[in-house]
Amino acid sequence: MAPVPRKHFDYLVIGGGSGGLASARRAAGVYKKNVAIIESGRLGGTCVNVGCVPKKVTWNAAFIRETMEDAKGYGFDVDVKGFDWRHFVEKRDAYVKRLNGIYARNLNNDGVTYLPGRGRLLGDKMVEVDEYTPEGEKLGTKAVYSADHILIATGGYPIFPKDIPGYEHGISSDGFFEIKEQPKKAVLVGAGYIAVELAGIFQALGTETHLMIRGDTFLRHFDPMIQETLTKHYETGMGMNLHRQSKQTKIEKDEKTGKLRVHYEDSNGAGVLEDVDTLIWAIGRAPEVGDLNLQKVGIKQDDRGFIVADEYQNTNVEGIYSLGDVSGLVELTPVAIAAGRKLSERIFGGHKDSKLDYTMIPSVVFAHPEVGTIGLSEPDARKKYGDENIKVYKTSFTAMYYSMLEHKGPTSYKIVCAGPEEKVVGLHILGLGSAEMLQGFGVAIKMGATKKDFDNCVAIHPTSAEELVTLR
Ligand SMILES: Cc1cc2nc3c(=O)[nH]c(=O)nc-3n(C[C@H](O)[C@H](O)[C@H](O)COP(=O)(O)OP(=O)(O)OC[C@H]3O[C@@H](n4cnc5c(N)ncnc54)[C@H](O)[C@@H]3O)c2cc1C
Repeated sequence: MAPVPRKHFDYLVIGGGSGGLASARRAAGVYKKNVAIIESGRLGGTCVNVGCVPKKVTWNAAFIRETMEDAKGYGFDVDVKGFDWRHFVEKRDAYVKRLNGIYARNLNNDGVTYLPGRGRLLGDKMVEVDEYTPEGEKLGTKAVYSADHILIATGGYPIFPKDIPGYEHGISSDGFFEIKEQPKKAVLVGAGYIAVELAGIFQALGTETHLMIRGDTFLRHFDPMIQETLTKHYETGMGMNLHRQSKQTKIEKDEKTGKLRVHYEDSNGAGVLEDVDTLIWAIGRAPEVGDLNLQKVGIKQDDRGFIVADEYQNTNVEGIYSLGDVSGLVELTPVAIAAGRKLSERIFGGHKDSKLDYTMIPSVVFAHPEVGTIGLSEPDARKKYGDENIKVYKTSFTAMYYSMLEHKGPTSYKIVCAGPEEKVVGLHILGLGSAEMLQGFGVAIKMGATKKDFDNCVAIHPTSAEELVTLR
């Protein structure tokens, strides 16, 4: 017998993270639709709970530590004694909890029905919810809802290398946010931005940090200038232990002390790291689709399991949409938010062409120092336009900030231009303040700025950013 829905909605959203919340609130708050959102964890999803927000707050702590060290060079009589990790984590977590509450209130203000629980598609535009408390405890009850439109915005989860013996002694980036005592010795495995950010935080806060990468540089999808400059700086500037061409062969745990032994091979041969307090796998993420019942409903996935959606976020099943990390196109919070809002504008606001333009999306790595990037890397631009149509402007210098310091940090900028009009098709910046700088340059580049437009903007002096409008 077909289930009888408890209630019918205009729009039912599975997943209360960045994309789901944004889409649900736009549909209910602006277009006054009858909307519900199903969330099995804490409202806000990855970004708020185990991603951007607690990560950036922790990066701030690391940055403050670096600045305090630098203060000595400016004549301050400071003695950086230590860092109360526990105190910091309690305050950070309280902040995140306040955000969870704000998200719940915002849903309420916009008239979105919040259904704590785990959603599963049943077909015929029906979703079964395994009901939870808002704190995530199972109630043991189920309810079925139907809707005209259903959005899947269930995000992703970190993967573990299950073929490595003892892998389970390591944690993921989710576990990073549960660490209650600062590790004395940490190993990070991975070359993507999450590994680079977490390793940088540990090292800056005084943990002995080992970063294990498969190749010779990290951030392999970024422009070579970024890869090479930052990899070198992490090793020689920050003093991080970098293991190139590495793989882990076995992880052992001393049950008495809780410490780990990480067996590995790298470019120097085989080795063992003893007395490791924390091992973090940051080797990639997979789509959170396990219990959605996608096959039964016939929703197409790619060979890695990501839900296939077209440029309007339509899946192959009419009335069912997908966006954000579960679709795996560009895994960033503002991308999920923008796609979610555009989708609601299209299906409820009458804007039939509303869709997110996935080109020229700026992004940042909160490394030490920060990295910002938008558009094509130099090799990608050469491939796309041909060598003869590409002109590259670049500079590397020591920012004025370091003039009073013994140690120097890198600053490197590159502008990649295409065609006779020298349209800027890529901008890559590394150095202090890059994260805040990139947003403004992003607007100009998205509008189609040329090198001449950059040159026509009068410099702001004395800044590092001024180099970008005076490059020859
Ligand atoms: C360590 C880390 C740092 C990051 N830093 C940044 C950053 O600085 N800047 C940035 O832009 N991005 C960052 N990201 C990426 C960003 O967090 C994601 O791109 C973003 O959260 C994706 O949003 P989403 O809505 O697709 O999914 P999510 O935010 O993951 O939300 C999905 C939600 O769906 C819920 N869910 C899953 N399955 C079900 C189900 N069956 N029923 C009910 N609920 C379900 C989950 O509990 C989750 O809350 C970071 C990610 C990580 C891991």
